[in-house]
Amino acid sequence: SPAMERILHRKSLELRNQQKEWQESPEGQKMIEFRRSLPAYKERDLLLKFVSENQVIVVSGETGCGKTTQLPQYILESEIEATRGAACSIICTQPRRISAMSVSERVAAERGEKLGESVGYKVRLEGMKGRNTRLLFCTTGILLRRLLVDRNLKGVTHVIVDEIHERGMNEDFLLIVLRDLLPRRPELRLILMSATLNAELFSSYFGGAPTIHIPGFTYPVRAQFLENILEMIGYRLTPYNQIDDYAQTFKKRKSQIASSVEDALDVADFKSYSSRTRESLSCWNPDSIGFNLIERVLCHIVTKERPGAVLVFMTGWDDINSLKDQLQAHPILGDPSRVLLLACHGSMASSEQRLIFDKAEDGVRKVVLATNMAETSITINDVVFVVDCGKAKETSYDALNNTPCLLPSWISKAAARQRRGRAGRVQPGECYHLYPRCVYDAFADYQLPELLRTPLQSLCLQIKSLQLGSISEFLSRALQPPEPLSVQNAVEYLKLIGALDENENLTVLGRHLSVLPVEPKLGKMLILGAIFNCLDPIMTVVAGLSFRDPFLMPYDKKDLAESAKAHFAGRDYSDHLALIRAYNGWKDAERQQYDYEYCWKNFLSAQTLKAIDSLRKQFFYLLKDTGLVHQQPENCNAWGIDEHLMRAVICAGLFPGLCSVVNKEKSIALKTMEDGQVLLYSNSVNAGVPKIPYPWLVFNEKVKVNSVFLRDSTGVSDSMLLLFGGKIERAGLDGHLKMLGGYLEFFMKDTLGEMYLSLKRELDELIQN
Ligand code: ADP
Ligand code: MG
Repeated sequence: SPAMERILHRKSLELRNQQKEWQESPEGQKMIEFRRSLPAYKERDLLLKFVSENQVIVVSGETGCGKTTQLPQYILESEIEATRGAACSIICTQPRRISAMSVSERVAAERGEKLGESVGYKVRLEGMKGRNTRLLFCTTGILLRRLLVDRNLKGVTHVIVDEIHERGMNEDFLLIVLRDLLPRRPELRLILMSATLNAELFSSYFGGAPTIHIPGFTYPVRAQFLENILEMIGYRLTPYNQIDDYAQTFKKRKSQIASSVEDALDVADFKSYSSRTRESLSCWNPDSIGFNLIERVLCHIVTKERPGAVLVFMTGWDDINSLKDQLQAHPILGDPSRVLLLACHGSMASSEQRLIFDKAEDGVRKVVLATNMAETSITINDVVFVVDCGKAKETSYDALNNTPCLLPSWISKAAARQRRGRAGRVQPGECYHLYPRCVYDAFADYQLPELLRTPLQSLCLQIKSLQLGSISEFLSRALQPPEPLSVQNAVEYLKLIGALDENENLTVLGRHLSVLPVEPKLGKMLILGAIFNCLDPIMTVVAGLSFRDPFLMPYDKKDLAESAKAHFAGRDYSDHLALIRAYNGWKDAERQQYDYEYCWKNFLSAQTLKAIDSLRKQFFYLLKDTGLVHQQPENCNAWGIDEHLMRAVICAGLFPGLCSVVNKEKSIALKTMEDGQVLLYSNSVNAGVPKIPYPWLVFNEKVKVNSVFLRDSTGVSDSMLLLFGGKIERAGLDGHLKMLGGYLEFFMKDTLGEMYLSLKRELDELIQN
């Protein structure tokens, strides 16, 4: 309406004046000067021209050239200059929450504003976004969620998908959806940004979209491989010739099993290579990167090398924390007057995050322990030294056995190059690759896209709830479609847990599950928790399983930590019940203000418990929105901790994550249908007990390392399994049923059994409605 348009126009003028005022201020000028020094600036006009003339463009450019912070800002600025500011709405997606947060903060600062004015962000659990926010940085997941309720992205003028080279599952998924959306929204602009030069792939996916490359500049970085590093840090016993031997063996093997580096490494026998250099052996355990080696390398840099920050690439959060603990105990590296030791990973607090970008004081060396997120999405300017352990924790998926694996696996050549490049931002740098050259040579060129290496359950559910038609047809249109067997497994699973019906239509349960920001099985647990009025403890379990385990297992105090956890488990034979009790204890301690001591004494991570706390709040309000909960948060648990009910609900959620328990005289044999013999992680309270008085364990996560390990487990009885364990016949559990002996038959005949079964039918109906 004309009135509306007048308001918009006035707003736009206001925005233009504000922007001008900032740009003309002294601080604004200084900022502009910095921004003009970035390589992206030279391409500004061309970029804007391309954006206005094409519906889709692909932009590539070296990390740090200014894609993420500048390009969205150029668009925003030019819209505001053209007095279209109030009408524009730019969304820029990031694969990780931490980059969405840090980038938005940076862009707001570059515009001389506070976050939440024209620039904001939104990630799961957190956001800073106001009525006037025109440029929103969000995680890819958040945009997908928005598409759930707003199929056409009404009002959005530009979508920028960042870091597409990473080929995350959500990004690949989003690209299919956006490609379908473009004809329906001809005025919508789509900009794809990538740190590598494989723009062609994306361009052709979008019918030959034009591409722009931003030439960047980095200083040369010298690459050192393990051979030189051992010499450099003074391994007196370093047997070069043996390393050469090793390289020879490796190459020989490599030609035999060209496909698998890991295999070859397992075969190369390090014991014979080094009986005297035990240390170098420990640094070579292919499953855990060598902390001692990293420590020595860091020590060398801190004491012998020129000034400059150090960036260490580790495999994951656990490793980072354990290494940080170890380094803090080191006489030099743990001395805060010499070393500023920081961690950088996806789930840390934003206050901690900011420290990473700050310069360390004079004479203090900044050392940042990071996951592979520091490869492309975060740029720490003053890095001169990079230490690369050569591995990244990567989810992979074994479709044949339907088993997800989370293993530290060797990175690709592209990733190693990228890591190395991080050292050359401000001056020539050094990169220490903690593996021999020949191992590098055997790396794959690029990493496999996530869509091809993870279970697809949540994704399939999303496809259905977004009404995108047949799952397999939809996924066949992906940039690189997943294997039919993986898709089929996911669909079967969703049918099994009752989220899809026989015809692959979303059931009522499925619809509820699709709005919960957790895996389907955990969503089902929440819904059952609501139905049985035991939501409070179940929310704790789900929050812990979907986020992270708060139980800490420090390297050197493993025994103490394990016994602290065992104390919470009591005689429950359940990691999940232990979690509930630990969390409840923390809440009590918090009320009485001794939560710090409580966490310390019990080896619990206060940070994780706090995150669990806020996840619980989010679950609660989402469930309230769906109408499944009516009461207040403090009244959503009628039973205290009813151990049996907990087991039942946990079983209902985690089924068919199930293994049978056979107590032998000296050991316990655990078996799953798919894997046969499985083992328990030593962190589990059920590990190392003499006997488990339950015929079954349900678990959330199993991981294939050498054997298959269950991460967490809860003992359940036969009747719980029968009543709550989903549709047993479809789970392919016939074998297990035989093991149950005549139990089922007994149940069928017995009147009590009749009662149970009708109860179960009711329950199924209840869930479906
Ligand atoms: P790209 O997306 O191309 O990798 P970015 O836009 O993220 O590049 O970063 C461009 C430059 O902006 C970086 O080189 C860095 O110097 C600077 N920068 C980015 N974030 C921050 C920050 N939080 N604090 C200070 N400088 C930053
Ligand atoms: Mg970027």
